[in-house]
Amino acid sequence: MFKVILIDKHDDSQRVALETLDDSRLPEGDVTVRVECSTLNYKDALAITGKGPVVRTFPMVPGIDLAGTVESSTAEAYQPGDAVLLNGWGVGETHWGGLAEKARLDSRWLIPHPSAFSARQSMAIGTAGYTAMLAVMALERQGVTPNQGEVLVTGANGGVGSYAIALLSRLGYRVVASTGRPEETDYLEGLGAREVIDRKTLSEPGRPLAKERWAGAIDSVGSHTLANVLAATRYGGTVAACGLAQGMDLPSSVAPFILRGVTLAGIDSVMRPYEDRVEAWRRLGELLAPEQLDAITRTIGLEEAIDTAGELLAGRVRGRVVVDMAR
Ligand code: NAP
Repeated sequence: MFKVILIDKHDDSQRVALETLDDSRLPEGDVTVRVECSTLNYKDALAITGKGPVVRTFPMVPGIDLAGTVESSTAEAYQPGDAVLLNGWGVGETHWGGLAEKARLDSRWLIPHPSAFSARQSMAIGTAGYTAMLAVMALERQGVTPNQGEVLVTGANGGVGSYAIALLSRLGYRVVASTGRPEETDYLEGLGAREVIDRKTLSEPGRPLAKERWAGAIDSVGSHTLANVLAATRYGGTVAACGLAQGMDLPSSVAPFILRGVTLAGIDSVMRPYEDRVEAWRRLGELLAPEQLDAITRTIGLEEAIDTAGELLAGRVRGRVVVDMAR
């Protein structure tokens, strides 16, 4: 028997509850994992509250991230007792996810748990931190170096934005943070931002080209913000696009690309190949201090996940929420 958050749908109305299920209810998969910790991402909150079309099949266990120990396995790569980590792959959307004491998964979705972190710490990082690392790696791959000038991070107080600031500043970049919450300036400077700008300066329709400022940027906002960031990116610079907090659209022109050789690098964390995941987590282990993670993390038990999802969507949660199955 194991406890889960179970989302079900009857006659178009969604029902979500903490339930105890028999192991025979576990889905198909070649590895069964005893989940130690999961986390609440924005996507998980949308799934739990039913406020976004995240869940594709019902009933569903939400939770796009999990860390735990292999209980049984028919896959060669994993043995009982191995510590493992999972981010994405549609888990919590099309396959039962991490907000459960137990998960049965496809072994190809797992990576060995990074030794630098405890399960609680890797879940404090979660998809947000792992995505920020992938975005930083994209800037590096395109040759953006700290001596080239300022790097902009939009959506600065968000999960991706906060980790992007911490990682870039640790690597020696001069980071400018764009936010709609100037009252969080101390928090952003504590993460390593050297300057904080008002997101309103980026969110309205702008010109195809603006004064060159950014050597690089990590954008989790999209829409006019991304268009304005591209317009102000310096010759040969790179912008990593990873989110759509303002909107899915991109009202831009080809001018930054054909006149300034700007690169727009797309970041997807969900279907990312195994090697990139392992490399991203290795880098996170090098760059993030475990104490830093503890400071921004609030830990809850599985039974609190439903209420906390509502708080998260209402913007009442700062930092990251870890769900500890032992609580
Ligand atoms: P989050 O914690 O909700 O942060 C989003 C941030 O964006 C907010 O904190 C806010 O920052 C800013 N923002 C919100 N609404 C805005 C608006 N209307 N205009 C301008 N800025 C706005 O979300 P997250 O987990 O960091 O994720 C950020 C984005 O990345 C989301 O769109 C998410 O879907 C996407 N994402 C993509 C991947 C991938 O694989 N590509 C992975 C993870 C997340 P301030 O308060 O500082 O302004």
